[in-house]
Amino acid sequence: MKVVCVGGGPASLYFSILMKRVDPSHDITVYERNPAGSSYGWGVTYWDELFHFLHGVDPESARAISECSVRWDSWIVHLHDRATITVEHGDEGSGVSRRRLLDIFTERARALGVRIEFEREVTDEREFPDADLIVAGDGVNSVLRERHAAHFGTEIAVGRNKYVWLGTTKVFDSFTFAFTETPHGWIWCYGYRYDQDRSTVVVECSPDTWRGLGFHEANEADSLALMEKLFADILDGHSLMGRTQIDGSAHWLNFRTVTNRRWYRDNVVLLGDAAHTTHYSVGAGTTLALGDVAFLVDALHGDPRLAGALARYERERRSVIRAPQRAARYSARWYENLPRYIDLPPHQMITLLDQRNSRVLAYTPPWLYYRIGQITGRLSALRSGGGPTWQSRSSE
Ligand SMILES: Cc1cc2nc3c(=O)[nH]c(=O)nc-3n(C[C@H](O)[C@H](O)[C@H](O)COP(=O)(O)OP(=O)(O)OC[C@H]3O[C@@H](n4cnc5c(N)ncnc54)[C@H](O)[C@@H]3O)c2cc1C
Repeated sequence: MKVVCVGGGPASLYFSILMKRVDPSHDITVYERNPAGSSYGWGVTYWDELFHFLHGVDPESARAISECSVRWDSWIVHLHDRATITVEHGDEGSGVSRRRLLDIFTERARALGVRIEFEREVTDEREFPDADLIVAGDGVNSVLRERHAAHFGTEIAVGRNKYVWLGTTKVFDSFTFAFTETPHGWIWCYGYRYDQDRSTVVVECSPDTWRGLGFHEANEADSLALMEKLFADILDGHSLMGRTQIDGSAHWLNFRTVTNRRWYRDNVVLLGDAAHTTHYSVGAGTTLALGDVAFLVDALHGDPRLAGALARYERERRSVIRAPQRAARYSARWYENLPRYIDLPPHQMITLLDQRNSRVLAYTPPWLYYRIGQITGRLSALRSGGGPTWQSRSSE
């Protein structure tokens, strides 16, 4: 099969690896618009299920990923000057550098005979008239998808809050949340380590807070300096690093949740963020993109007819994706409605932070949800490992 993959992100690269593993005679080329070694984003989280899956399908790349990953098994939540709460053994996860992940996949794909062309932007699938299959792994703003948005039934919901994805030299030993109150409202971040000497920090706030703090007119250096001041307690003097835009401003964005009614058109198939996005606060986009790969490769080798295979991929994978997308929407909404939770007693607020993916919570008074959860024992995350350790800085 002659395959063209548009985009050199985790989805396309891993697809090329698995295809070659199943059948080395496939002729596969990946086209990436950026130069080799350049990548947006800093570190990505993943959980053990992903590692077991990767290990099962391509142990070579899984070993390389595991060697450069770091793990955490506790969280810390800093609630401004009200409380700092540590949750031991709350949530075991791993972090890995996005750039390192892409390097591992690139190296592995090349070793299996995949051609990878960097600095090649694709604008139209008709550039590849002789391809049997064209994989649109070109991310959230997929050009191949947008060219046929009506066919795909693309819907894009733009989140209300502003966010920016940053790096820092501060090494967080635990998954760290920090909520800071300002005269213009709350601003918060979460940080996690992704290698020996770096962590990622994602900062978020409402649009009113963002404007009130002057981020809309600040250049990147001033934006970073202000965020370093706002999160000085957790950064311990370390600086934040951003990704400057052409106009010199910081890379603040509104998250875009993408859904598609159809996932293929003729021989063009959507994969990863081009097909669906899930809010970053659930840390699952890369994992889901790699899950798409497994479904697509399986469908392509299970049905000799391309249309049948793509229809099966669309049907089966779309139905699996619905639940995590719904959870991610509730998580995003939890943050958009932060005033609903932030003034609760700290242990309640933090328990509900852990429950932010819940559909029921969005429609139930928070105190009642908490109470029912306590009675039924459903609020398990904070009970595991003996529950939270309190280090209150002031009264509850
Ligand atoms: C703030 C933030 C934090 C996140 N944290 C996590 C996390 O902790 N864990 C997690 O699992 N996920 C996380 N994600 C989600 C994750 O980054 C994405 O889901 C994942 O990168 C999707 O992979 P992809 O290959 O589909 O797309 P991408 O990684 O976006 O790759 C697409 C590639 O296509 C290239 N491209 C685009 N257009 C063209 C074109 N026309 N021609 C050629 N090349 C093109 C791009 O340059 C890019 O390299 C986060 C996302 C955000 C925004």
